[in-house]
Order: sequence, then C-alpha cells, then structure tokens
Amino acid sequence: MKPSPAQRAARDRIAAGLAAAGFALPGTLTVRSYACGKPSCRCHAVPPRLHGPYAEWTRKIGGKTVTRRLSPAELTQYQPLFDNAKKLRALLAELQDLTLEIIEADSSPEP
Ligand SMILES: [Zn+2]
Repeated sequence: MKPSPAQRAARDRIAAGLAAAGFALPGTLTVRSYACGKPSCRCHAVPPRLHGPYAEWTRKIGGKTVTRRLSPAELTQYQPLFDNAKKLRALLAELQDLTLEIIEADSSPEP
C-alpha cells in the first residue's frame, strides 16, 4: 500500500474519531406508529389514529432477529448509544472506502 499524504491525513482523522468513540449499542433503533389487526379500532378510522409512536430496538441475538420495545425512559437513555454506533459505522465505512481507494490505485496498470 502506498497512501498519499492526503490519504494518510484522512486515515489519521478517521482514527481520531474512532479513538474518541463512546459506548455503542448493536442493532437499529426505529420509532414508528402502526395500525393493529382489529378492524373496528381507532387506527382504522377515517382519519386513522395510529398506535404509538413506539421505539423499537432490533438486533441479532445468536443469529435470530429480536425486536424489543423501549420505554420512553429507555429511549432517552439509549438514544446517544445508538447515535454513537451510527457514527462508528460511518467512520468505519469511510476508512474502508479510503483503503479500497489506496489498494485500487496500487493495482492499476502503470501508464
Ligand atoms: Zn388499532
């Protein structure tokens, strides 16, 4: 690998971001409202009044996808941990793109 000075600087910036990372939770957080299965329920009225919004935490546990509803207090407490995880994923993706760019430049034919 022969990274340019700019590519080394980009790596240092990404590494500093990774080094400064806080605690992070696995999985994804989604906040959504939904209609239930009861046809007579208010959520099927016109206009519909949906249930929620509910915060749901989805992740893999032993290869199985598990979704758990979070209470408002849990959402407040965990939100920064999901935000940290998102930042980490973005930094890692950036580092991988950068590395790919460097090895692809290495293997391109000489002019
Ligand atoms: Zn309903």
